[in-house]
Amino acid sequence: MEDNKMNRREAIDKLAHIITSEDHNHLEDPTTKHPKPPFNKQFQPFPGLAGKMEPVPDHGETSYVGSGRLKGRKALVTGGDSGIGRAAAIAFAREGADVAINYLPEEEEDAKEVIKLIEDEGRIAAAIPGDIRDESFCQKLVSEAVSRLGGIDILVNNAGHQKSNESILDISTEAFDRTMKTNIYAPFWIIKAALPYLKPGSSIIGLSSVQAYDPSADLYDYAQTKAATTSYVKSLAKQLGPKGIRVNGVAPGPVWTALEVSGGQTQENLVKFGEDTPLGRPGQPAELASIFVQLADNSGSFATGQIYGSAGGSGQP
Ligand code: NAD
Ligand code: MG
Repeated sequence: MEDNKMNRREAIDKLAHIITSEDHNHLEDPTTKHPKPPFNKQFQPFPGLAGKMEPVPDHGETSYVGSGRLKGRKALVTGGDSGIGRAAAIAFAREGADVAINYLPEEEEDAKEVIKLIEDEGRIAAAIPGDIRDESFCQKLVSEAVSRLGGIDILVNNAGHQKSNESILDISTEAFDRTMKTNIYAPFWIIKAALPYLKPGSSIIGLSSVQAYDPSADLYDYAQTKAATTSYVKSLAKQLGPKGIRVNGVAPGPVWTALEVSGGQTQENLVKFGEDTPLGRPGQPAELASIFVQLADNSGSFATGQIYGSAGGSGQP
């Protein structure tokens, strides 16, 4: 009887050990999963290349595994060459969507890698370089995406410009205009051009930021564009809800991307980038990819007018 009890106890212990060690294999500690500060100082002229960053960001190239959630969908991602947009583009393709990416001509090297990754999934990949500060280009971008993909039902207005300036006195009218045109006008022009093609079930996603809620002293112009993005997402969600088109936003905290090493941060901030989050590090673009998939997917059908935060424990919402 005593023996029997012992055997049972041993068997339970053994099983518990197997279960916990298997669980451990599936657990990834978010504090040690990706590079932590201090980072090396590094500067690239705008817009910068992800491939030249040190360390090179993780956009999910080797890690994102799809499961057919966006089969047959057609996505346009601005700024899809690098950073958060690239992570979204890779995830969309792995989930079965055809993807068009827009970027600046200087970013061809990064863009080529993304195009190849999309094609490797057997999906249509459309590379459409050009400057979205120009309204007629924005119209051309949408019509070309529609004709090359055969339609569009996911629109990610991800491209953005951020330049750190210690003082408002350092911001010229031209620099202010670049930030406003890229971050506010371009989504306005692109959404207007895309709307006639968006059927019920389509999804629009904008890129806000923790800067919308807690603006940094050196991001006077950029921060207000992110507040504007949060606002357009909520306004448009009300306007387009009755038409069955969902509009949501993503508000990242510090994420390791080319924007940050090409003038977005001071060199001093770059070295300790992400240090003040509870995870003690910046996010990698790959860590945001599943949010875009969820917002685009039919399963997220009750989400509209929402802002999804991803900031490692810092910032709102
Ligand atoms: P990124 O530099 O990799 O991507 C930004 C992209 O914007 C560039 O690749 C470029 O193709 C595009 N772009 C800029 N100006 C353009 C123009 N005039 N015409 C066409 N394309 C243009 O950096 P990222 O951090 O991945 O940025 C993506 C979005 O995420 C931006 O809207 C940014 O504001 C937002 N965001 C980033 C962070 C962060 O910490 N990295 C935090 C919050 C929000
Ligand atoms: Mg880029």
